[in-house]
Amino acid sequence: MAENENNLMTQNFIHNFIDEDIAEGGRYAGMTVHTRFPPEPNGYLHIGHAKAIYVDFGTAQKYGGLCNLRMDDTNPTKEDVEFVDAIQEDIKWLGYDWEDRFYYASDYFEQMYRYAVELIEKGLAYVCQLSAEEMSANRGDVNTPATSPYRDRPIEESLDLFRRMRAGEFPDGAMTLRAKIDLASGNFNMRDPAIYRIKHQSHHRTGDAWCIYPMYDFAHPIEDAIEGITHSLCTLEFEAHRPLYDWVINNISCPAKPRQIEFARLGIDHTVMSKRKLRQLVEQNYVSGWDDPRMPTICGLRRRGYTPEAIRSFSEQIGVAKADSTVEYAFLESCLRSHLDSTAARVMAVLRPIPLTITNYPEGQSETFTIENHPKDPGMGTREVTFSRHLFIESDDFMEEPVKKYKRLTPNGPECRLKGAYVIQCTGCVKDEDGNVIEILAEYDPDSRGGDPADGRKIKGAAIHWVDAATAIDAEVRLYDNLFDDAAPDAAGKDFLACLNPNSLETLTGCKLEASLASAQAPASFQFMRLGYFCVDNRDSKPGAMVFNRSVSLKDSFKK
Ligand code: ATP
Ligand code: MG
Repeated sequence: MAENENNLMTQNFIHNFIDEDIAEGGRYAGMTVHTRFPPEPNGYLHIGHAKAIYVDFGTAQKYGGLCNLRMDDTNPTKEDVEFVDAIQEDIKWLGYDWEDRFYYASDYFEQMYRYAVELIEKGLAYVCQLSAEEMSANRGDVNTPATSPYRDRPIEESLDLFRRMRAGEFPDGAMTLRAKIDLASGNFNMRDPAIYRIKHQSHHRTGDAWCIYPMYDFAHPIEDAIEGITHSLCTLEFEAHRPLYDWVINNISCPAKPRQIEFARLGIDHTVMSKRKLRQLVEQNYVSGWDDPRMPTICGLRRRGYTPEAIRSFSEQIGVAKADSTVEYAFLESCLRSHLDSTAARVMAVLRPIPLTITNYPEGQSETFTIENHPKDPGMGTREVTFSRHLFIESDDFMEEPVKKYKRLTPNGPECRLKGAYVIQCTGCVKDEDGNVIEILAEYDPDSRGGDPADGRKIKGAAIHWVDAATAIDAEVRLYDNLFDDAAPDAAGKDFLACLNPNSLETLTGCKLEASLASAQAPASFQFMRLGYFCVDNRDSKPGAMVFNRSVSLKDSFKK
């Protein structure tokens, strides 16, 4: 985030803990607050991660501290450089900087192994030969402790077996290394959890150097301790794992003693947030890619026209709490709308064009109007828009037989303004053989240049947007709706694919845009007057074949 951006995070419960920790006599008195963001590189980041990034980097920033970026790549499957690069790009785009502190958890494999050996030597870990099924059968229940016949095997034997596990002597699943904690614990995570398993699988960075891999609950506190993290902020599902986190930290000779603090995961209605489900949408072609503008991924939101400011403001406003909740998608949209309202230039674009002929305007003549780019921000300047006898307007701005209260163009109906240009009155229309309206006819008042009639008479009709036919450019415009009809497609047990909205994408071609947009490039955003906020598509738009995405409509459906 820009250094001069001074709006630091609002105080939340995490900060209260940190305040205690860094106060005189606190566990980290006199130390620099140090956090980390630890994504697993098995997918693209989504808006839930944006919240975690905001919490991790924002908290460090609030305390003048540091935040590391760490690829949590201890799991040898699924990881991919494509994701590693995309994660970095997305965090930078959001406005955060890990400076030179970019790490891979897999770089610590050797140290993790040594800490595991240390635990065995201390009699705090043992090699267990129960299979996964046997282990779960011997898990016990609330009243019955777990059991393992290998728990009391001699330290030397465990050391030898663990070394041979590493050397590749045993097949997958043949044995695990378990922490020796408490088989009767009410917290099942403490019932001698497995901390290493055998997996003969290549790793994206360490290749075939390892065939045993540490479990998350063992690896994560070590990663944090090695990096000197003071506060390890994570989501609520790790709350019940905190005793194990602390147990690991307290029983190995690690260089630091980080503190884990959990906060609520972000959920948003009408979308899914699990990477597994997002991946399925991509792989099974329900969307065009991870950056499909309907996806809740950071790259999808960026392509949709979201700005880093809007996402940071959303993260700040939803707050950091200890109880899981679902936020309305409409709230995310309202954050974008309010940022674009102050920053996006107003332009005219006609999405469903129909020709309008000003019959009393001479053929071959044209004139230009100077229009301000933003009604409230003169600093955004002005631009020239041409006007002539042949224009395009939105086809629903004309009705031959108007419905009640219709204030737009209708034969001999109310006078209307063409925004920024002249007052016109509709005189009729031209139809094809099948009776379809193919052209609208109107007369203009030459004494209303700029939009107000010289005689001061009241104009009862609406002000409608238009473009000049001779200079307009053609474009494709994509309109989006919720990817899922169902408000809670992510809910447990629901078939999320059955909740997909079949009408989430509407593609309009042959749209007519004012000429000033011909040179627009991503990430430019505009307000298409009366229609909404639109951005240049960062993948498909080309000079001469422009593609725009509707980022958000004008109307706020979020009930504050
Ligand atoms: P998924 O279940 O979607 O794969 P994950 O939690 O496994 O998500 P990670 O890459 O491990 O994804 O997440 C990195 C960090 O982002 C973690 O600290 C995690 O707690 C946090 N995070 C992930 N999803 C959310 C969310 N919806 N809200 C807040 N934080 C999240
Ligand atoms: Mg994870």
